[in-house]
Amino acid sequence: MTRILITNDDGIFSEGIKLLAASLSTLAEVVVVAPDREQSATGHALTLSRPLRMQKVEERWYAVDGTPTDCVNLGVLALLKDKPPDLVCSGINFGLNLGDDVTYSGTVSATFEGTLLGIPSVAFSQEVGEGFSFHAAADFARRLVEVLLGEELPRDLLLNVNVPAGPIQGVSFTKLGRRVYKQSVIEKLDPRGRKYYWIAGTPQWQRAAGTDFEAVSQGRVSVTPLHLDLTYYPGLESLSPLREKLSSLTFPASPPAPTSPPA
Ligand code: MN
Repeated sequence: MTRILITNDDGIFSEGIKLLAASLSTLAEVVVVAPDREQSATGHALTLSRPLRMQKVEERWYAVDGTPTDCVNLGVLALLKDKPPDLVCSGINFGLNLGDDVTYSGTVSATFEGTLLGIPSVAFSQEVGEGFSFHAAADFARRLVEVLLGEELPRDLLLNVNVPAGPIQGVSFTKLGRRVYKQSVIEKLDPRGRKYYWIAGTPQWQRAAGTDFEAVSQGRVSVTPLHLDLTYYPGLESLSPLREKLSSLTFPASPPAPTSPPA
């Protein structure tokens, strides 16, 4: 039987993961391994400095005191090692994961990890808006996964799905949009007179054709194929003056110790 590993970054008690699991369990055996509390914006963090605990919450539901990436590792390499999942799904996240923000996203990073482990992976996020509900995203997830499971899946399949609030106008294959950096850091004083900082601000997006942001703003489900190769290929050419300079460097057998500039 087809097996799907589900995780998220909102925590195992979030509504979004319950509905995703319920929706996909009509198609496959679903096993949930998810953080025991919210881990949003933890990115692709992996816990190496302490042991991790996995607690059975109910049949096929396990809570981990770690990140979404930890959960995928424990799920694939420990809990399900005898029969690894055919698909890793993450979400449904409370809020969109668009454009440049995918690198902050624990939801999307869980699917990076799934793909690194050789398992096709899909992330689902739902826009928060008027009349909010996870139902449209859960229904779309079931229909997308049904199509995926009906085909030979490429091992490097990595999809980032964002579902708009309100009535869905269709589905678009998209590229990642670019954020306009309007983020701000607020500086205040705590009750003891010490400074503290809070990262704040509402993300703004460049209006560009074919992006995930554009699709969602038009009421369309955005499906973005991703890959993990962060190489900037044009740079291999455009940075050739730098490459030339570096390639003319010579390297002494005993490099000099760094010296501080005179005071
Ligand atoms: Mn989240």
